[in-house]
Amino acid sequence: MHIYLHKNDSICTNFGLFAQNEFYLHKTFATVFHTIIHPQTLNGQKLQNNHFYLIVQQITVRIIHKVQKIITIIMVAVATLGSHCSLQVLKGAKDEGLKTILVCEKKREKLYKRFPFIDELIIVDSFKEVLDQKCQSILEQNNAVLIPHGTLIAQMSSEEIESIKTPVFGNKWILRWESDREMKEKLMREASLPMPAPISDPKDIDKMVIVKRQGAAGGKGYFMAASPEQYHTKREQLISEGVLSEDETLYIQEYAAGVLAYLQFFYSPLKEELEFFGVDQRHESDIEGLARIPAEQQLKLTKVPSFNVIGNSPLVLRESLLEQVYEMGENFVEASKRIVSPGMNGPFCIEGVYDENAQFKSFEFSARIVAGSNIYMDGSPYYSLLFNENMSMGKRIAREIKTAVQSNQLDKITT
Ligand code: AMP
Repeated sequence: MHIYLHKNDSICTNFGLFAQNEFYLHKTFATVFHTIIHPQTLNGQKLQNNHFYLIVQQITVRIIHKVQKIITIIMVAVATLGSHCSLQVLKGAKDEGLKTILVCEKKREKLYKRFPFIDELIIVDSFKEVLDQKCQSILEQNNAVLIPHGTLIAQMSSEEIESIKTPVFGNKWILRWESDREMKEKLMREASLPMPAPISDPKDIDKMVIVKRQGAAGGKGYFMAASPEQYHTKREQLISEGVLSEDETLYIQEYAAGVLAYLQFFYSPLKEELEFFGVDQRHESDIEGLARIPAEQQLKLTKVPSFNVIGNSPLVLRESLLEQVYEMGENFVEASKRIVSPGMNGPFCIEGVYDENAQFKSFEFSARIVAGSNIYMDGSPYYSLLFNENMSMGKRIAREIKTAVQSNQLDKITT
C-alpha cells in the first residue's frame, strides 16, 4: 500500500519537494486507504465513526502544510553573477526546484541564453550594477539569495559587497578577510593553519618567494624572486608592462614547493556540520608552460611568467591525509566563528601544497565557492560517500537554502 501511494502521489513526483517528512504523509494515506479497504479495523482496533473524520482532517492539515512549503520554496530564487561558477550554481538551484536569476553582462548574453535552466537574465553593462536600486529591487521582488563567487570579490570592493541589500549566501563580512592579505593571514593564524612564512620587506628576501597582489586576482601579475634585486627588477618590468600599478601593495610569501591541492569544504550552520567536498588543482598560465621548455631556452626568456588560472582538474588524496584535512577545515570554521561572526558558513576552500613529507602548507583560503568545484558538477568522490545522489556544490547550496526556507531559518545561512 505504501509503495503504491508513493508512486501515484502526483504532487510528490511533480514537484520533487517532499523528501523530508514524506514518510509521515504516506503513512497517513496508507492508514486511510487501509481503513477504506478494511473498514472494520484500524490498527487492529474496531473502527469508530469519528476515527475516519479525524484522519481525513489530519491529512488535510498535512497537505496544506506541504503546499505552503512548496509555495514558499517556489517563491525563493537563487541569483548570481554570470561568470566563475554561475552555471553550476544555477543548475543546482534549478534541480532543487528554485527559480534561477543570472546577472549577466551584455557581452555574455548569447552564451548564457544557451542554458535552459536559467529562468531570468538581468542584463547589465557592468557587474557593479548589482549595487543599483533597479537591480536590487528585481532581486528583492524575487526573494532572491545572492551566491557570491570569485568574480564578485575581484570586481567589487569589500565596502560595496557589504552594502548589498539582497541576502548573500554565507557570510559576506568574511569576504573582506579573503581580499585583504593582512587580515587573511590573521585568520589563517587563528585557525592554526600551517603557512609559508610571509616576508614584510623585500630587502629580507633570501630564498625563493612568490609575490602576490591583493584580492582574488586569479594569480595574474604574481611573480617569483630569489633576491631583493630580482624582486625590484620584475616589479619594475610588470609596472612598465601595465600589469601592476606603481602604488600597488604587494604581498611577499615564501615559495612552497610540492603538490598543489585546493581543499573544498561546505559548512552547514543548520546541521552544524563540516563536509569535505573535494580537491582540485589549478592550471596556471604561463608558469606551467615553462615546464615544457628546455632549461637552455628558459634561461633566455625575459618575460615574467604569471599564475593566471586557466582551468582546473580533479585530485583525490591519499586516504591517510583525510583526517588532517577535516581537522584543518574544522579549525578554520571555529576560528572564523570567533573572529568574524557568524563564521564560515557555506562553501570555502583551503589552498596549499603538500611537501615531500606529505606535510600541508596553506598559502591561501577562499571564503566562498571556488571555481575548482566546477569539475564536480555531477558530484564529487567525497560527496558520493555522504549523499546517495549526485550532489554538486551548487546543488548543495540550493539544498541548504531550501532546508532553511522550509524551517524558517534563512537568517542563519545568509548575511
Ligand atoms: P593565490 O592567489 O594565493 O591562490 O595564488 C595563485 C597561485 O600562485 C596558486 O594557485 C599557486 O600556484 C601559486 N602560489 C601562491 N602562493 C604560493 C606559495 N606560497 N608557494 C607556492 N605557490 C604559490
